[in-house]
Amino acid sequence: MPQSRLLIFFAGSEARMRRMLRYWAATWLLYSMGMLLMFGLIDGGLVDESAAKPLIRFGMTSILGCYLLIRASDALSLRPAQLAVMQALLALTCNIGAYALLGPVRGACLMVLLVIVVFCTFSLRTRATMLLCLTAIAELGATMAWMVANHPDRYPARIEAVHLGVTAASLVAVSLLTGEMHKLRVRLKRQKEELLSAVDTIRTLATMDELTSLANRRHMNEVLGIEERRKGMPDRRVCIALLDIDFFKNINDRYGHAGGDAVLRTFAAAVRSELRAGDVLARWGGEEFLLMLPDTDLAEAARIVQRMADKVGAMQISEFDRALTITFSAGVVERCGDEPFADTISRADRAMYLAKSSGRNRIAPVGIGASLEAA
Ligand code: GH3
Ligand code: MG
Ligand code: MG
Repeated sequence: MPQSRLLIFFAGSEARMRRMLRYWAATWLLYSMGMLLMFGLIDGGLVDESAAKPLIRFGMTSILGCYLLIRASDALSLRPAQLAVMQALLALTCNIGAYALLGPVRGACLMVLLVIVVFCTFSLRTRATMLLCLTAIAELGATMAWMVANHPDRYPARIEAVHLGVTAASLVAVSLLTGEMHKLRVRLKRQKEELLSAVDTIRTLATMDELTSLANRRHMNEVLGIEERRKGMPDRRVCIALLDIDFFKNINDRYGHAGGDAVLRTFAAAVRSELRAGDVLARWGGEEFLLMLPDTDLAEAARIVQRMADKVGAMQISEFDRALTITFSAGVVERCGDEPFADTISRADRAMYLAKSSGRNRIAPVGIGASLEAA
């Protein structure tokens, strides 16, 4: 769309840049209104044209320069706070220059002065805003003193003193409010970070088994659901294996529940090390594990589970007993077409019981009905 291309050309596509340019556009509006007012006053003969024209030129150059600086801020490594200070100093100079020119209507400039500082509260810290306010007070005070000394008829000392006092008090109040706003922003940022980290933890807890750090049953069901909903891949072959540790109750009885837990952790680590990218292994319950092998046929799946059996058979759980070895029995099946995974898992379960009943430490690929002897 040509309109959005135009927007990208002027404001870029990055949200941060667009936010900075939105503030710039608001400033531009203020400058424009100030300039229109100035032209009106020149027309009405209230302002000296020869003095006003250079100020208008300075204002226009400043606003254009600010736009270019914002657009080039990444290339020039300018931070938002630095840009804000630069824009504020230029705006203050224009505003106080206008104060010196506007004579009877100069009071309007003092309100704009406050607006300039309030703008900076979005990006400046308390100290920087304080310094900006002090600069504004000093610039304004010096201008007033000069005007009182050179044009006491238009700028009477008493009125200037009141103007300066009220403006200084308002600026100090604004900078104190900025401090509060800054604290609020810091608190909000911290709360957002805490919230993000809590969401992260919840997401992990919702998908991971706490004991083994494998996927949990809920996550595996989600993965299987996604696989079931996958359409348009009729040739995709998916295998499911159900692994159950043999005589695990005996391990618990001999080494206690904590010992059993340690064995489960070691078992999970060993089996996980044999996974390929895309394979998903989950703790299905107690000492039972479900393995999903995408893009794999039955023979390949049986080979992979056999490698796992070799690894588990060779692992040492020296924490308790050097002589302790564990084995598992597994049923391996291939999903038939778009069969629901609940049915595939049922078949894997039956195959696993076949492996158990034929002596354990077995891998039974289903469909064939025979059992492969584990190493
Ligand atoms: P089989 O070879 O027939 O599978 O025998 P088994 O002893 O492995 O199976 P059984 O179902 O009789 O016992 C499983 C045991 O696993 C019983 C249960 O207390 C234990 N178990 C289940 N979850 C955990 C766990 O998180 N930690 C521990 N330490 N034990 C668990
Ligand atoms: Mg068991
Ligand atoms: Mg079991």
